[in-house]
Amino acid sequence: MEYINNCPICLNNCEPFLVTKDHFLTQETFTIVKCLQCGFLFTNPRPAAEELQKYYQSDDYISHSNIRKGILPVLYQRIRKYTLKRKYRLLEKYQKPGNLLDVGCGTGEFLALGKQRGWNVTGIEPSTQAREQAVSNFKLEVGDESLLDHLPSGHFNMITLWHVLEHVPLLNERMQTLHRLLHDDGLLVIALPNSGSWDARHYHSAWAAYDLPRHLYHFTPVTSKHLLEKHRFTVLTQKPMVFDSFYIGLLSEPYRTGKKNLPLAFYTGLYSNLWAFFHQKNYSSFILLSKKEKS
Ligand SMILES: [Zn+2]
Repeated sequence: MEYINNCPICLNNCEPFLVTKDHFLTQETFTIVKCLQCGFLFTNPRPAAEELQKYYQSDDYISHSNIRKGILPVLYQRIRKYTLKRKYRLLEKYQKPGNLLDVGCGTGEFLALGKQRGWNVTGIEPSTQAREQAVSNFKLEVGDESLLDHLPSGHFNMITLWHVLEHVPLLNERMQTLHRLLHDDGLLVIALPNSGSWDARHYHSAWAAYDLPRHLYHFTPVTSKHLLEKHRFTVLTQKPMVFDSFYIGLLSEPYRTGKKNLPLAFYTGLYSNLWAFFHQKNYSSFILLSKKEKS
């Protein structure tokens, strides 16, 4: 295990916030701490880099195929297809197709659609299995994380991280790399689960998006903006991901009660979105669109 002495964002001291477990895989207990200065939540202590791999040893984790096989498979596929298109419709309002880097591209569905829409796409994916699927299914160019150090500076018009930054051990170093790779007029897109959402408070230690110890950080819109500003990015806008609250509800209900409960998961998902609409846009998940700070 690795202990982190200071807040990764503002370097101040922290206090314990929540003790809960890896509901998904190992059932081991972990602690989340909170920065006394900026309120940032992070898993501490956490498995060292070489130990982290074992917490991803599940086929379900790569593709979330547990949902695909079990609950409402057709609906899940439809929503996935719709949300992929919706992402491009949003992003292309801010950036015309050019060079796109998707960090943590998984099995490549987002990049495959980008290719169809005229983007020149590159993927980064640490899982060998997911990487092989992305290459064989969609003929994509996908490398492991070591490729990040070899890509040319300022090359990418858009860099996307869909629920990825919360998994990255060297957070500040990764932010520096993203700053180096992004074109001066490029768009950085970061999607994250929101520990300040209603469903996070409601499910508390059973909230599936704490996903310990795979999620090393538990961002809110406020703390993620601090991190972006620290690394010389300016946030243009914040957008909700309205389907995530339902998905998180489906996963969290069994962690809370031991049973699946589709109607209740749906209700909490809906309530979370309504609450967010009236409370500072604290949706279950959010997307931040940023540009490099002008020097
Ligand atoms: Zn802090």
